[in-house]
Amino acid sequence: MPVENVTEKESAVPGEPVLPDVAVNLVRPTAPVIGRVVESELCTLGKRKSAAFIRHVAIDVSGTALAGQFRAGQSFGVLPPGEDAKGKPHKLRLYSISSPTRGEDGNGNVLATSCKRVLDEHWDDHKLFTGVCSNYLCDAQVGDEINVTGPSGKRFVLPEEPSKHDYVFFATGTGIAPFRALAIDLLEGGFNSRVTLVMGSPYTTDLIYHEQLVELDKQYDNFRYVTAISREVPDDQDRKLYVQDRIQHDTLGTGPGSLTEQLASDRTLIYVCGLAGMEMGIFKGLYAVLGREGASGYVRVDDEVADDLKSWNKKMINRQIRPTKRVFLEVY
Ligand SMILES: Cc1cc2nc3c(=O)[nH]c(=O)nc-3n(C[C@H](O)[C@H](O)[C@H](O)COP(=O)(O)OP(=O)(O)OC[C@H]3O[C@@H](n4cnc5c(N)ncnc54)[C@H](O)[C@@H]3O)c2cc1C
Repeated sequence: MPVENVTEKESAVPGEPVLPDVAVNLVRPTAPVIGRVVESELCTLGKRKSAAFIRHVAIDVSGTALAGQFRAGQSFGVLPPGEDAKGKPHKLRLYSISSPTRGEDGNGNVLATSCKRVLDEHWDDHKLFTGVCSNYLCDAQVGDEINVTGPSGKRFVLPEEPSKHDYVFFATGTGIAPFRALAIDLLEGGFNSRVTLVMGSPYTTDLIYHEQLVELDKQYDNFRYVTAISREVPDDQDRKLYVQDRIQHDTLGTGPGSLTEQLASDRTLIYVCGLAGMEMGIFKGLYAVLGREGASGYVRVDDEVADDLKSWNKKMINRQIRPTKRVFLEVY
């Protein structure tokens, strides 16, 4: 989802990144390649205790044009079989790649995602509605063949020189997928960058890839993994928290190593992935802790709405409220 963030009239932002030129659309929906499912398992902390069914699905694309060609932060496409209500073939759905650039296998041959089953009540007759592609992908068994495309996305990748920056990643739900990938690329790449990942979910049981991220946090001094739970108060929180609330309620306060301190640095880039709308809370959180001037490295706000945060709404994004090139958004 490319977003042109900064109007030309605005002054350059210190610490703006240079993005690499990455390959996209090597495999198009008109000529998908066949991948084979090699792994499928629930990846929420609570497994069956979570109200959501989210699966880590790994697909072997070796021998195809996708092999070795995807980057952490990109997505791939899945073409579900069958037709929609109008008799047209089902359209492609995108899934963020949760594997680092080296793939799950180390050679770029196996890519993975975390896919959430869409389960709902039908608009017309309140019968069970099951999302077409998410359930197709989550139903797939090891050995099943899947039509895949990609890679997709140029704007949600690491900058050309990763060590020039520090990183704050904000995720909700399956928005964690690209951050598993990006964090592993940064940490295994040996860059000295500081990386903080803030993961928001309704309940602790819904946290995705939690155990692996806790391990990375223990293993790497420059990586911090922080959670924000919004519908219960776990032991390590003193209140219910949405992901953006962590900016103001960091367990490290505002001192050295804290999120506030990291956000105040010109080196820091912010990546946001998950539920559409979450970016607004983050912009407000940045404003609250850094003030208008301090937050201007991330978001430029027109005078008429600058002091009235309550009036901010998503229609203002890219109009009165403009994220700078130090902010990367992938919300869906
Ligand atoms: C860049 C990008 C990355 C993404 N990454 C991921 C990822 O990593 N993991 C992931 O799980 N998803 C991801 N998605 C979302 C994914 O592409 C799909 O949109 C999602 O899986 C739902 O597809 P579906 O075919 O299952 O649902 P669909 O069948 O397309 O239904 C979509 C929505 O419409 C509603 N709906 C449609 N018709 C009805 C009806 N008749 N009655 C009631 N409700 C209805 C459903 O409730 C549902 O919310 C990503 C999207 C983008 C754009």
